[in-house]
Amino acid sequence: MFAKKYSYLGPAEDLEMAAKEKTGVRIRHAQDVLDWIASEQPLQSSTGELMATYVVTARRELRLADRHAEHVVCAGGEKVLAAGEIGFVLDRGRLSVSEVTNQSTDYCPEPACWKYVKKSLKKAGIENPGAFTVAYIFRRCEKCDTLNLVKDEWYVCAVCDQDLSKTWNCAPARRKE
Ligand SMILES: [Zn+2]
Repeated sequence: MFAKKYSYLGPAEDLEMAAKEKTGVRIRHAQDVLDWIASEQPLQSSTGELMATYVVTARRELRLADRHAEHVVCAGGEKVLAAGEIGFVLDRGRLSVSEVTNQSTDYCPEPACWKYVKKSLKKAGIENPGAFTVAYIFRRCEKCDTLNLVKDEWYVCAVCDQDLSKTWNCAPARRKE
């Protein structure tokens, strides 16, 4: 089946820089996450979750980076199938995913990208919640160019009240020469 690939939505200069920075760590097995936790020592939330930034690249590689890392850097500037934030919990050495979202304004992936996240986690043998714990819908306002987060099916621009597209349209309008 055709897999929707998301390109980085920011400026081309950022993309060149991102390709030179340290990319996310590839996760093949649960142990890779444990190794990443041991070496990076990510911050824990108040509930003890270890939060990270993730992407699934177009080559179907799951990659993790520090939660403050940009998604485009985590992906090494590549196109992605999915991107967002992920939280892990460790219970007596047993790793599972406690929360996972598609929150990434670098790529604005649609909620349907969950299937690639699920596949990657399953392949790595990591327990997952079965769906995004929060699924975000992003839309660009075609009048004022603001990137909106759609809540409660309310497809209206928060800045200028313009109706927002029902279909994905987050790629920036072509810049004026
Ligand atoms: Zn607007």
